[in-house]
Amino acid sequence: MKIPFNKPAFVGNELEYIKQAIYIGQISGNGHFTKKCHHFFEEKFSSKCLLTTSCTDALEMCSLLLNIQPGDEVIIPSYTFVSTANAFVLRGAKIVFADSQSDHPNMDAESLEQLITPRTRAIVVVHYAGIACDMDKIMELAQRYSLFVVEDAAQAIDSYYKGKPLGTIGHLAAFSFHETKNVISGEGGLLVINDKQFEKRAEILWEKGTNRTAFFKGEVDKYGWVDVGSSFLPSDLIAAFLYAQLEKMDVIQSKRKLIWDTYFENLLPLKEQGHIKLPLIPEYATNNAHMFYIICKDIDTRDKLIAHLKKQDILSVFHYLSLHKSPFYASRHDGRELSWSDFYSDRLLRLPFYFELSPDDQEKIINTIQEFFN
Ligand SMILES: *Cc1c(COP(=O)(O)O)cnc(C)c1O
Repeated sequence: MKIPFNKPAFVGNELEYIKQAIYIGQISGNGHFTKKCHHFFEEKFSSKCLLTTSCTDALEMCSLLLNIQPGDEVIIPSYTFVSTANAFVLRGAKIVFADSQSDHPNMDAESLEQLITPRTRAIVVVHYAGIACDMDKIMELAQRYSLFVVEDAAQAIDSYYKGKPLGTIGHLAAFSFHETKNVISGEGGLLVINDKQFEKRAEILWEKGTNRTAFFKGEVDKYGWVDVGSSFLPSDLIAAFLYAQLEKMDVIQSKRKLIWDTYFENLLPLKEQGHIKLPLIPEYATNNAHMFYIICKDIDTRDKLIAHLKKQDILSVFHYLSLHKSPFYASRHDGRELSWSDFYSDRLLRLPFYFELSPDDQEKIINTIQEFFN
């Protein structure tokens, strides 16, 4: 039996709620289950929230809300998914890539100040593996230079920085419910609006540039085209699926944390023998068990380990290739070396991690890794 890298979790009421959405008779956006999801997040975050069709879309909304113009500079980690950068490139921004920390793939808050110029508009942080960036430092810097902060919290549901939920610290934040994340709806995302000045316009952008949302709330007596916008809202079928997952978030999370702890405890001897490094959880951060990665001592070791695991039908995968070296952006990059980003591109390896990973399969994965190094 093959052990995949990811397997979408089904936790109970997904089909039932989709059926209910169909019987209710509105399966387009902003229906019954969309409102339930909004309510769930607004209670949790105490901020206005809008479901989107993906985290990518939520990030594009951030870029529109910040009114990013050609030539504006946006600071983004190089070690991230393309959507973090693309959302801003679409509006003509110049991306200034930040390096990772030496002890974590997250952006190095200490190295950000030197990247700020008079054209800098925003810093986009990515909470890699759901582990918080050092937000106090980043928010202080942003305030000092009047910059906006967007949290790419795609991986960061149910994770905290000094007791504050990730996604509530920056001016805006984006979550993902893609099937590779902790809580899923196939494709799906969420925009969190922590700065009230963006609330009204976010609803308009979300509804194709119309004030339709205000109309349905009875705030205006007719609706029309009032701004730019797009179709960012998901079908209520997606929201129905998502709501079933949100209701069971605690079950999902306790299972994932158990899997994470099992990897950590059993791989600790390999770390102590100097073969690998294990994930760091800083004191200010919680661990939401989004992924489990190890860091090999070089790319050669990592590739051999991938092959060794594959021979045992275990699928492990590396992660981001530094965006500053990508075919699309390399020629636009300012030429700085970002050696920690490259370090994680070469050495980081993600192990199979999903809700239904059985103890037997996990034991097989751990044994196969131990056998490789010993
Ligand atoms: C998954 C992910 C995204 C994209 O999410 P989608 O919902 O697939 O658009 C963006 N940024 C990061 C860091 C991610 O992990």
